Order: sequence, then C-alpha cells, then structure tokens
Amino acid sequence: ACLERIERHDATIGAFLRVDAARALDQAAAIDRRRQAGEPLGPLAGLPVAVKDVLCDRDTITSCASRMLAEFRSPYDSTVVGKLKQADAVLIGRTNMDEFAMGGSTENSAFQPTRNPWDPTRTPGGSSGGSAAAVAARMAPLAIGTDTGGSIRQPAGLCGIVGMKPTYGRVSRFGLVAFASSLDQVGPFATTTEDAALLLEAISGHDPRDSTSINQPTPRYTESINKPLAGLKLGVVPEHFGAGLDPEVASSVRAAIEVYKSLGAEVKEVPLPHGKYGVAAYYVIAPSEASSNLARYDGVHFGFRADQSAALAELAAERQELIAAGKTAAADNVDAPLVRMYRSTREAGFGAEVKRRIMLGAYALSAGYYDAYYLKALKVRRLIRRDFDEAFQQVDLIVGPVTAGPAFKLGEMVDDPLAMYLVDLYTVSANLAGIPALSLPCGVTKAGLPIGLQLQAPPLAEERLLRGARMYE
Ligand code: GLN
Repeated sequence: ACLERIERHDATIGAFLRVDAARALDQAAAIDRRRQAGEPLGPLAGLPVAVKDVLCDRDTITSCASRMLAEFRSPYDSTVVGKLKQADAVLIGRTNMDEFAMGGSTENSAFQPTRNPWDPTRTPGGSSGGSAAAVAARMAPLAIGTDTGGSIRQPAGLCGIVGMKPTYGRVSRFGLVAFASSLDQVGPFATTTEDAALLLEAISGHDPRDSTSINQPTPRYTESINKPLAGLKLGVVPEHFGAGLDPEVASSVRAAIEVYKSLGAEVKEVPLPHGKYGVAAYYVIAPSEASSNLARYDGVHFGFRADQSAALAELAAERQELIAAGKTAAADNVDAPLVRMYRSTREAGFGAEVKRRIMLGAYALSAGYYDAYYLKALKVRRLIRRDFDEAFQQVDLIVGPVTAGPAFKLGEMVDDPLAMYLVDLYTVSANLAGIPALSLPCGVTKAGLPIGLQLQAPPLAEERLLRGARMYE
C-alpha cells in the first residue's frame, strides 16, 4: 500500500531520493514467512520506515543530498539503521533533505526540492523535509529524521505530524553523517505520539561506539504513554509570544494551553531570558563544528572527486607563463596538484549553503576571532541550559510554538539565508541545551495549513514528554 502511494504521489511531493521497492517487498515477504512459521518477530515487524539519507545503510547509497556523496556507499550500518533491521522494520526508501542537513526547507538538496503534501507550492520545512512529507502524505507510517537545530520538529510542525528530538545522547550517532556533532540527534516521525514512542523505543539505547551515548536503560515508552500526567505543571514562556508570531499560530497554541488547563494542568509563566540569543549562538557553534566535520570531504577519503583535467591544464598554463617570464622560482610555487584537486572537488561537490557554513565556521574558529565568537557562543549556550534548569525546577514541561508561522512558499526564503536562519527561533534552544522536545499538530490555519505545538522536557524525560503530548492528542 505504501509503495502504491509513493508511486501515485511522490512524483509531485519528491519526498524520496531512492525507493527500493524490490528490496522492501523481499524484506516484507521474509518477515511474513517468519511470522507464518511462528518465529518471534521484532517490535517493528513489517512496518515500513523511511530513513533520512544521512544515516549509513550498507545496502544503499548515503548521499546526504549532496553531490559530494552522490555515489557513496557505506561499508557498515549506522546503529540506528542496524536497530531498525533488528526490529524487523521494512526499510522502504531514503528521504530527501537539505544538503548535509543544513537548511530549513529541503530546498538545499542537490537533487530535488520536496513539496508540502498540504500545499505543493509550499515547503515541508527542513532539513528532514523528505521524512516529514513521506509520513504526512501517508507514503510511510514512520520515518527517521535528524534534528540539529529543529530539523525534526519544524518539518513535523509544518506537515501536521508528530516529530521528536530525544535528549542528546539518547539515540546513537554512530554512522550518522556528522553536521554539528554536539547538537545532532536522531529521532522519530509518526502520525501519532504512540507510533513515535514505538519507533523511539526501537532506536534508543546505549552504544559503546558513540562516546556521547548515554548509558541508561531505555524506558518502555509504549507501556506508559497512555497514562495521563496527574498534577502536570506546564510552563509558558512569555518571550515565545513576542512580535513576529503569526496570530493564527498564537491562537492555536493558546487554545492548546486551554485544553491542558481543562485536563487539570496548572499553567505557570517561566522566563527563558537567554532564548533570544539562541539563533545567534547556534549559527556560530553549528557552522564551526560543520567546518571541522566537513574537512574530510577532500576527494581522497570519500565520494566525489572533481575531474582533474581542467585544473591540471590551468596549472600547466600558469607554470608556462611564469617560466616564459623567467620566474622559475615562482613557477615552482604554483599550487601543488593535490591542493588544486582538493579545491576543485570542494568547489564542485558542495552547494552554496554548505560553503557558506564552512566559511562562517572557519572564520569563527580562526585565531583572533575564536574568543570573540566561538567561546562567547559557548558561554551563551551554558546560560540557555541554565535557564532551562531553573524553569524545570518549577514546571514539568514547557509548551509553546514550533515556528512563528505556517509552511512558507518554495523559493520564498532560499536566497535570504538570514531569514531562513530566523525560522529556527523556537527550536534551536533545545539542541543547545541537549533537552528532549516534541512537535505535534494543534490546529490548521484558515488557508488549511497545519500548526504545530512544541513541548520541551528536562534531560532524559522523554517518557514524561510523550505522556504529556499524548494527553493533549
Ligand atoms: N535549520 C537549521 C540549520 O539550518 C537546523 C538544521 C538541522 O536541525 N539539521 O542549521
């Protein structure tokens, strides 16, 4: 049924980069044979799961929607993909994304844009827009995304589904192609909180191959999710309702807060005074880490290597000119061919946004600017975490918007990076603080676009977060 929907709708939506129908049907048939033989099956037996093209899977390409990795085949499975296979999921296809997960609209993919199933003239959000659109269009019941600054929650909100970023370290990053390693986290997309809980349970857990993985047992989220939280104290952040928040989003979020009150929750105002610096700190820290992580794409170690003929011809001509002018020493100083190769590979292999991040990061980390930008951003990060720690002494969960407005038009912001960065206002703080956060649908605009509600919880309180979300749902 999922393959049929993909066949029918994905030419318009563009959620998938690759669908291996034959492999999916083989997997499903093999699971069914085991079922008929009475063998024990995993918790996701037979469920199609769409996976963002950023998690290594030895059975397919892992492109990160980049020309740089367009043909890259990982020799091993990421821990998350391994766990999905172990759980007997059917890996139905690989989803589109912003290149290396940098972006908020999936338009930075080197291969194709993805469209919002609610209105194909609009973006599904990003960077996990393919995964969100796949679930929203019912082309897969479950999908995996990654969230470095909001890339699960924002597209979930804009596509009207559930998306969750777990606590940093809850889900292994082993085999996840790194964007900003101290912020990246893998998480589930689903149409309901119960399904999100099921998928989260299957992918969570300690992994000795990821040194930042938390050594804690995984709670049985699916067992507790239907127990409402008695005496819930809900925090509302006044700063979340400032200028720039779309009035329809504001009224849906306020209506959701009223629903919680009617369910017996006590609602309290909690300040997060440093939240307003979140985007600024994030866009120093994330590009800094990215500039370091992306240094490995040099045309030698991985994937793409630029055609050398043009670069070598250019080099030879330059040398000839210098020799003709009698500058033989200078001729010997012409860039070594290897440097030319690195340069032309990176020039052709990366898209504009990735290059922008590499330059921003290299600048922020350079001697003389490190203290002024990078170190300063780390201090702001600490203050943001401290705000949350204080808030969570008074409340159990924090509720608010996911984004300031509903899904925007394709092409509307792609040439205005700053405007695109500001979309992340409400989501980046959870990544900077390492806390779990979830987005679930809470309304629809008059124009028929979904509105998301964000819930945030203290570190490792995923169980509370899911139960709190389920109560509203
Ligand atoms: N939009 C943010 C960025 O471009 C978040 C991306 C993400 O979470 N992967 O960095």
